[in-house]
Amino acid sequence: MVFHRFDAVIVGAGGAGLMAAAQLAGKCNVAVVSKLYPVRSHTGAAQGGIAAALGNVEEDHWIWHMFDTVKGGDYLVDQDAAEVLAREAIDAIIELEHWGFPFNRTPDGRIDQRRFGGHTRNFGEGPVRRACYAADRTGHMILQTLYQTALKRQVTFFDEFMMLDLLLTDDGVCTGIVAMDIETGDIHVFHAKAVLLATGGFGRVFKVTSNALAATGDGVAIAFRRGIPLEDMEFYQFHPTGIYKMGILLSEACRGEGGILRNGLGERFMERYAPTLLDLAPRDMVSRAIYQEIRAGRGVDGKDYVWLDLTHLPAEVIETKLPDITDFVRTYLGLDPVKDLIPIQPTAHYAMGGIPTDVDGRVTIDAQNTPIPGLYAAGECACVSVHGANRLGTNSLVDLVVFGRRAGRHMARFVQENDFHPLPKDPAYRARAEIEWIRENDGTERVAQIRAELQEAMMTDAGVFRTGDGLKRLQQKLGELRNRYTQIRIDDKSRTFNMELMEAIELGFLLDCAEAIAASALAREESRGAHYREDFPARDDANWLKHTLIARTSGGLQLFYKPVVITRFEPKERVY
Ligand SMILES: Cc1cc2nc3c(=O)[nH]c(=O)nc-3n(C[C@H](O)[C@H](O)[C@H](O)COP(=O)(O)OP(=O)(O)OC[C@H]3O[C@@H](n4cnc5c(N)ncnc54)[C@H](O)[C@@H]3O)c2cc1C
Repeated sequence: MVFHRFDAVIVGAGGAGLMAAAQLAGKCNVAVVSKLYPVRSHTGAAQGGIAAALGNVEEDHWIWHMFDTVKGGDYLVDQDAAEVLAREAIDAIIELEHWGFPFNRTPDGRIDQRRFGGHTRNFGEGPVRRACYAADRTGHMILQTLYQTALKRQVTFFDEFMMLDLLLTDDGVCTGIVAMDIETGDIHVFHAKAVLLATGGFGRVFKVTSNALAATGDGVAIAFRRGIPLEDMEFYQFHPTGIYKMGILLSEACRGEGGILRNGLGERFMERYAPTLLDLAPRDMVSRAIYQEIRAGRGVDGKDYVWLDLTHLPAEVIETKLPDITDFVRTYLGLDPVKDLIPIQPTAHYAMGGIPTDVDGRVTIDAQNTPIPGLYAAGECACVSVHGANRLGTNSLVDLVVFGRRAGRHMARFVQENDFHPLPKDPAYRARAEIEWIRENDGTERVAQIRAELQEAMMTDAGVFRTGDGLKRLQQKLGELRNRYTQIRIDDKSRTFNMELMEAIELGFLLDCAEAIAASALAREESRGAHYREDFPARDDANWLKHTLIARTSGGLQLFYKPVVITRFEPKERVY
């Protein structure tokens, strides 16, 4: 076992983790621990853009951005946090620019901006150009810019180290983490004054997803296991335009640049669902509209997909502003977006819920928002909550940089004002026990089989449409899979790069996330944002304008609730 001591440890090298690291560098000694080599983090797959009301191309204001975020989130957004997001987005983008981010430019040299779903001018009058971008490789550029900045500032990296456990004292102070060096299988204990969880999302609980293989909810599940409640887990976003059957994302920028959706009859069906914003309505609405068309028999050839049509756009726009997705369509489908229609279906994309935090990234433990000393979370694994029941496109990347930065700055102050708390006697015992159990278990069940059944069941019963009966059936299935998980067996017993072991550990995390989603979704008897209950199709503010918290206790899963922070915008019906 190897021991390390750092003032601050950041788990995750995506946009959120690296932004925080860049703030801490030079102020204290900081380590970034990452399962993946940093630039392989899922942030690098982000395509379309990052929102900020710069007003470079047409009039825009941060308060319009704040309003769109609140309305887009179906009023479950904490408005104090949304205000921080919209205001600080502007400065965060300028900071990225100064660090070398290669934005697309207007002819007069300013950062160019394009349209995205749900972003409007003057409180909903029509679409606005708010998304800053670098072609359709915005996330790739963010990751490269932040990684270079962190390297330049001499942050210490532990690449390909997998966190297995979070260390909290009995009285609830965070003292570090335990991780496995994937190359050697050695266990490392990181003693820290402050820890930031920035481990990303858990799209891999679903069968059809845009998320990378590594998006297995590790940080979320580990926090849950250590008694930290999870917030709003029932709100999981399906992006309307995944490549049919594969789930690979075709960015909303396709529609931002003028692309439209057509059903099997060739109709621009969004006219029926969102007369003002049409194809640029928020994702929850567009995904439901696609399935409604399919259910009404208007899918393509009676099948469960519709078309994304870019053929009316100038070839030059397609080739230069959407080069990566054009490549995907050519490579994976053998079609050419310049002249062919593209078959698409909604794909599991983004977790609005996660580890609850305040606006400084401090993880909170209860409905009163009591912070856990020394523990922070930011990025997709966290729930601030700025996305409420449904996130707008381009609002995740800005969440990473705004709240990653705030968390980093708060941690810098925290480590200056606080000492190290002692570690428990044998800090790695739980992590060691888990690994030994998996390596030595002599069962008959296969990890891949259980994972496939999990993903299938989640897709069927916790996808775009949900019912009470379906969610109960799902809970039963999850119970069965949980039992079968205790009977797994892996063949690779080695210590070096043991991928079979990693996948088994990750399956445990996925099961935790799925259980939290199912229980939270069953309890919420209303429809709001991405959570659509066919048996309760209306939004119910009288009973459900509140955040779900779910905790794992010795008596099983426990649900409780906390109020939504409303400052400027009273909840209204959502019309687009
Ligand atoms: C295909 C795609 C396109 C997208 N496009 C956009 C877009 O255009 N605009 C937008 O705003 N949003 C977009 N999003 C959403 C956005 O990219 C993500 O929400 C965001 O990048 C998540 O960043 P993160 O820093 O939280 O985590 P990630 O970038 O996912 O990074 C997670 C990090 O945690 C580490 N990690 C995970 N588990 C462990 C562990 N057990 N131990 C150690 N390290 C661990 C990983 O190594 C990784 O470094 C897109 C998402 C996808 C999937």
